[in-house]
Amino acid sequence: MRLFDTHCHLGLIHEDYLEQLLAVQYAKRVGVKHIISICNSLTDFEVIYNNLRSASDVYHAVGVSPSESGNKIDGWETRLQELMKLKRVVAIGETGLDYVKNFAPKAVQVDLFIKHLEIARRADLPVIIHNRQAGNDIIDILRTKIPQKGAIFHCYSEDWALAQKALDMPIYFSFAGNITYKNIRKLVETVEKLPADRILIESESPFMVPALYTKRRNRPEYLPETLKAVAAIRNTDVEEMAEILYANSLKAFNLPAED
Ligand SMILES: [Zn+2]
Repeated sequence: MRLFDTHCHLGLIHEDYLEQLLAVQYAKRVGVKHIISICNSLTDFEVIYNNLRSASDVYHAVGVSPSESGNKIDGWETRLQELMKLKRVVAIGETGLDYVKNFAPKAVQVDLFIKHLEIARRADLPVIIHNRQAGNDIIDILRTKIPQKGAIFHCYSEDWALAQKALDMPIYFSFAGNITYKNIRKLVETVEKLPADRILIESESPFMVPALYTKRRNRPEYLPETLKAVAAIRNTDVEEMAEILYANSLKAFNLPAED
């Protein structure tokens, strides 16, 4: 069985690089062949990128997340455009809007988000989107600004109505450990109704730990729990679901097909 963890904050699971590399190895033992490493700032990105240099199956996203919108470094746009040229960088992000934590005023967040979309367009890379109660604004902005390589709504936690609005654009929906929780009717409906070729899964480690491991810090090796939940909701065999999600992940990040 092959799995693809499309969103993992390895640097927030462990600080030590050997432990980060071990987390990748443990994930491999349960079938997680590829991981997309996510960072919130360019400074964090540079640290993790170097730590994981030897991990050739780990891909990277680079960007300044909404959580850092209040404290961007000077010259971040130039730096980002240098970093995105590095080997195995396959996406810009995470970027987006967060109306729950309100890290910075709306206008500041929107400006940062749009700049990321423009950079992704120029780089011909997809964007990874962070959305907290800002779905409609994000979709409105994407209408005119979506990069040609599309977008991934990471840790999708909204309802089917919102997902439906985005379906005419090249957008993937990535589900995390919260799909294993109780009382998530709206989320279940979304997983049920989405076209199979738009679905991805992610660990969102160290957050969103699947129900089976409650109270632990999430790790990519727990991803099979999320796979099982998605397969059960879609009434699809687990192995078959894994193959569908894996193929979708390669497509979403423009990676060559594997045998
Ligand atoms: Zn994240």
